[in-house]
Amino acid sequence: MDELIKICPRCGAAEGQQNRGRNRSGTQACKCAICGRRYTPEPMAHAYADEVRQSAIEMFCAGASGRKIGRVLNMSKANVYNWIKKTSRDSEK
Ligand SMILES: [Zn+2]
Repeated sequence: MDELIKICPRCGAAEGQQNRGRNRSGTQACKCAICGRRYTPEPMAHAYADEVRQSAIEMFCAGASGRKIGRVLNMSKANVYNWIKKTSRDSEK
C-alpha cells in the first residue's frame, strides 16, 4: 500500500489530518482539522535519493523555507516538510 503525505498544503499542519474518502478519480482525499482545507495528499516519494533528502534538510537547517527548498529541488513543499518533521522526530530519540 502506498504511503501518502498528509500535511495540510495551507497551514502545514501534520496533526489532525483526516481521511475523507476518495475522489471520483479514486485518489485519497484528506481534510485538515486545523484550518478545514480539503486536499489530495501526495504519494510518499520513495523515488527521491537520500542525497536529495539530505540537501533539503541541510537547506532547512541553514534557514531556507520549505517553499524555497521545494522550488530548488523541484518537489512539493509538503514533501519537504514531511522529511523535516520525520528527521527532527528521529533526532529527538
Ligand atoms: Zn490546514
